[in-house]
Amino acid sequence: MDRIDCLVVGAGVVGLAVAKTLAEAGREVIVVDAADGIGSGTSSRNSEVIHAGLYYAPGSLKAELCVRGRRLLYAYCEAHGVEHRRCGKLIVATRDRDGPQLDAIVERARACGVTDLQRLTRAEALAMEPALACASALWSPSTGIVDSHAYMTALLGDAERAGAMLALLTPLLDVRREGNGWRVRTGGAEALELEATWIVNCAGLHAQAVAHRMQGFPTGEVPELHLAKGNYFSLRGRSPFTRLIYPTPGDGGLGVHLTLDLAGQARFGPDVEWLADADPDQVDYRVDEARAAAFEADIRRYWPGLGDDALLPAYSGIRPKLSGTGTAAADFHIAGPAEHGCPGVVQLFGIESPGLTASLAIGEEVRRRVAGGA
Ligand SMILES: Cc1cc2nc3c(=O)[nH]c(=O)nc-3n(C[C@H](O)[C@H](O)[C@H](O)COP(=O)(O)OP(=O)(O)OC[C@H]3O[C@@H](n4cnc5c(N)ncnc54)[C@H](O)[C@@H]3O)c2cc1C
Repeated sequence: MDRIDCLVVGAGVVGLAVAKTLAEAGREVIVVDAADGIGSGTSSRNSEVIHAGLYYAPGSLKAELCVRGRRLLYAYCEAHGVEHRRCGKLIVATRDRDGPQLDAIVERARACGVTDLQRLTRAEALAMEPALACASALWSPSTGIVDSHAYMTALLGDAERAGAMLALLTPLLDVRREGNGWRVRTGGAEALELEATWIVNCAGLHAQAVAHRMQGFPTGEVPELHLAKGNYFSLRGRSPFTRLIYPTPGDGGLGVHLTLDLAGQARFGPDVEWLADADPDQVDYRVDEARAAAFEADIRRYWPGLGDDALLPAYSGIRPKLSGTGTAAADFHIAGPAEHGCPGVVQLFGIESPGLTASLAIGEEVRRRVAGGA
């Protein structure tokens, strides 16, 4: 039976960044994914925003890995010619009484090491984006957008150059602790049976299911999964904005915001639709057209010029949350042997936004745990 050093489960943006980081550190790596291509899960159903790191609790993994990951990601895109744009974003207070919320974001961001925010008056914001309606705004110059698929292709290229191998259509079926490693069985046309010293679980929405399939891993260390769907509508016609526009944040998400793709096409979302069933295999990704009315109402608060019937249902993504509606947002959960007590495994749970931005920093986090040994 083949014996390998590190098995990475999942070839989304996180699994690929982990594979690249481990392979470049000299580890032997195989990445398996159940799908027929890389990045076909949540990594292809997001806003492709490079977040500055404004909203997270100071000291949390989300805050630290977003800020570090953002710097690493810009540098990586520049070095690898991955298309991206540091277009910046405006967070808008549509009423005077929302202004203090923007001040609170400035304070929180500063505590997380983000010091480039600028408070803008209404006139200053309108000078940047004349179609906007607001009482005041906050300018984040280090927010940007990235071609996430080009980024993932580059990560895979780096990982493979450093010796990593990718096996697609290879779902992890079961795993059990044997000796000082893990015995792994996968499905697929070329089913694998191998022994791995390390398993790094980057299965996104299926991370809990994968962890529960690991005989010998304590089930009490697997946090409960909650799913929150985020729906997007695209804008028919040209966008009047050249920067990202966000309202002040709400429960579970950042509010129905306007993001742009690299071609300048605008889309709105994601909203927050909590799903009653936390089974990722039962998710209906279709966007219900009836949600357009609520989107229009939210968008017109900061863009009164939005025309009737200008929104088209686009796509949706699912957030793998570790806390439910009405409770405080949970942090990323990245746990190695020192945290959960089980040798040879790093578990990643709840890698919702800003997982794309943080991906390279998450890779470093995993590398530290693997280097620390079982
Ligand atoms: C609506 C939405 C908007 C977002 N917007 C942003 C944003 O603008 N900026 C940002 O930084 N972040 C954003 N995020 C977060 C970001 O998209 C995710 O954090 C990131 O894509 C997670 O990547 P992943 O690799 O963990 O998961 P995934 O991309 O889901 O990859 C997991 C992979 O595991 C595979 N897999 C599952 N089970 C198995 C198995 N048993 N065997 C083998 N393979 C398996 C799947 O096929 C999949 O390819 C957003 C998320 C959502 C939901």
